[in-house]
Amino acid sequence: MTAGIRRVWTPEEDQQIIAWRAEGVSYRDIAERLNSNGASIASHFYHIAEQAGAPPRQPSPSKPIPPPAAPDKPGARKCLCCSRTFASAHAGNRICWRCKQLAERVTVGCQA
Ligand SMILES: [Zn+2]
Repeated sequence: MTAGIRRVWTPEEDQQIIAWRAEGVSYRDIAERLNSNGASIASHFYHIAEQAGAPPRQPSPSKPIPPPAAPDKPGARKCLCCSRTFASAHAGNRICWRCKQLAERVTVGCQA
């Protein structure tokens, strides 16, 4: 098996990587300085950052609503009242919660 050589990082190197990253040195440059490769520095940096209590890589803050896969599946649909795209539970759900609430309060129709 030739599963890449796993480098053992010393605490001094850890500190050095953190310090360089704080200065804005790229993983590639750090890799050259430490005679390693960028990918290995990057993954090691995330590892030590996580150990130091830093939050792990954040998933994208607001996920876009996926388009509906099938009529009976939830997805993004346009509200028939206000034409806003909203998260619809199924094809029969074509009025957004906002219009629904308005309709429940005022039974005169859509006020969007
Ligand atoms: Zn609406």
